[in-house]
Amino acid sequence: MVEQDLRSEIPTHAYISLARRGMEKISLDQCFLKNCDNTDVNLLVPFKKEEYEDEKEQTRKIYIKCKKCGGTFILKLQTIKKVAKSTKDKDEEPLSMGLVFALDEKGNNLGHIGYF
Ligand SMILES: [Zn+2]
Repeated sequence: MVEQDLRSEIPTHAYISLARRGMEKISLDQCFLKNCDNTDVNLLVPFKKEEYEDEKEQTRKIYIKCKKCGGTFILKLQTIKKVAKSTKDKDEEPLSMGLVFALDEKGNNLGHIGYF
């Protein structure tokens, strides 16, 4: 798969819940590895995707190489299906919710980033 196609799989932003202060929008065009402050999308090269799906959720893992620190991290995009199906209107599409996590190259969780 070519880089541009992989890039289009990545949401540009995620939202972080700030308790009473609402939601903060953060860019996903950044390196999530420790000690790296790269926010230049041109230095982030997505190169691999894994995808799996079951009844409850769809998970996509996008592997990204950071040209600034030389590391690789994984953006894990998890879409939970049918979060809140309306009981009033049966025809209404069930809502889904997306969660973004960052993982390091070995799959260790670097933290829940936010929602997309
Ligand atoms: Zn980096």
